[in-house]
Amino acid sequence: MRLKVLGAYGASDAEHNLTGYLLDDWFAVDAGTLTSKLSFAQQGRIQGVFITHPHADHIRDLPHLIHNRFSQSSGPLTIFAARDVMDLLVQNVFNGIVWPDFSCLISPLTKKPAVQYRALATGKKVMFNDIGITAVPVDHQIPAAGVIVEMGGQTITFTGDTGPTSEIWKRTNKCTNVVAVVTEASFPNDQQSLADETAHLSPNTFGEELKKITVDAPVYASHRKIPFERDIESQIKNLRDRRARVLLEKNYTL
Ligand SMILES: [Zn+2]
Ligand SMILES: [Zn+2]
Repeated sequence: MRLKVLGAYGASDAEHNLTGYLLDDWFAVDAGTLTSKLSFAQQGRIQGVFITHPHADHIRDLPHLIHNRFSQSSGPLTIFAARDVMDLLVQNVFNGIVWPDFSCLISPLTKKPAVQYRALATGKKVMFNDIGITAVPVDHQIPAAGVIVEMGGQTITFTGDTGPTSEIWKRTNKCTNVVAVVTEASFPNDQQSLADETAHLSPNTFGEELKKITVDAPVYASHRKIPFERDIESQIKNLRDRRARVLLEKNYTL
């Protein structure tokens, strides 16, 4: 599969982008950066988006992706999230105040709603086109679930934001042909207490999570905070685990 990393940071400026990933050009995970880095035509090819949690850095571009879809002929965009995450999105974002509920608005081009919501029971795989999607809860203070995506005989796991966690590792360890794991390391080691308080990882706790992962695949640290990106990178290298690496904003072929 192809992984296009549109945003690999937990903050944004002119050269760093918020969390957003695209698999094979049509399935996205998180929407901090989608519209701001994709052409209108590229946006029209996205068929599904999985949202890990409602924090603004993971949904910033979602209202705009939906709005653009309303004037495209490519049919409804399916938004996936764990049920409790979906409830928060509908109550707090697509509530007719922050943004319209486009699932109730009929697109003039397709005569269908621009978007449909698909709330997922955690731990249960659903099929979408020919890929498998399993939402798995992680630990991030608010409702949050990562996702295991099975696509073309390969498996990739995204935790989204999380502190130390376990269920998603147990499930990933049981999957076949895991080609990558994308998790996070938001703060450097000298800010461990802040990482703990906000339910994020540092390179030290990323290293502890690595011990729970038994698959032989690269494990990427995403969501670095901009001022500490170099410190975090060197601390990840110092873990001396050949699987551990930082995620870069580029295209990966897995
Ligand atoms: Zn975040
Ligand atoms: Zn978050």
